[in-house]
Amino acid sequence: MYRQMRELIAEHCHRMWLLGWGAANDGNISVKTEDGILATGTGISKYDMTADDIGLTDGCGNILWKPREDWRPSSEIKLHLMCYAEREDAGAVVHAHPPFSTAFACAHRTIDTGIMIESVLELGEVPTAPYAPPSTDSLPDSVRPFIREHNAVLLANHGALTAGSDLKAAFFRMETLEHTAKTAVYAGLIGGAVPLPDEEYSRLIRMRAGYGLDRR
Ligand SMILES: [Zn+2]
Repeated sequence: MYRQMRELIAEHCHRMWLLGWGAANDGNISVKTEDGILATGTGISKYDMTADDIGLTDGCGNILWKPREDWRPSSEIKLHLMCYAEREDAGAVVHAHPPFSTAFACAHRTIDTGIMIESVLELGEVPTAPYAPPSTDSLPDSVRPFIREHNAVLLANHGALTAGSDLKAAFFRMETLEHTAKTAVYAGLIGGAVPLPDEEYSRLIRMRAGYGLDRR
């Protein structure tokens, strides 16, 4: 069952761990297929994740196929399913706790993407969803209004979430988000980043709409 895609998801989990996007069992990845949602299993370090730790659920989280008898999807599966329900164009969702992005989320600060060209083009505006307890219905509810209009959302006192048309797009957005957050923190140490001029920021926003990047 989707062996090749499950291996690709496991490979991206390894990349997450190597990039330091979480501790212990933090983070989860899902990919939409014609038959349901492939999701990483619960309670597994992303370093240890293999294709045999990834199963298939329906849009409500019911297990359609499992790699072994005791497999259960990520505890944040509801967060992922909400993204697919809200975004017809979403093909993959990545949730992680990358330290620089999470620092902004813990400080209840938004990341000003207007300091770097690539950040504006890739992410646009990044909102921060209000705090909601993890693994509950409150968490998808708090993120829902933001993911409708944005590809990357910070989760207050928790982490970050990105969506994309496929796994590569969602993953690259998390990379860009964390890179932007890290650069903003470093720039802050030497006096703070100077934002792009307003007219240039507006031009880049128009350019991404022209590329169909505004929501994709
Ligand atoms: Zn989390």
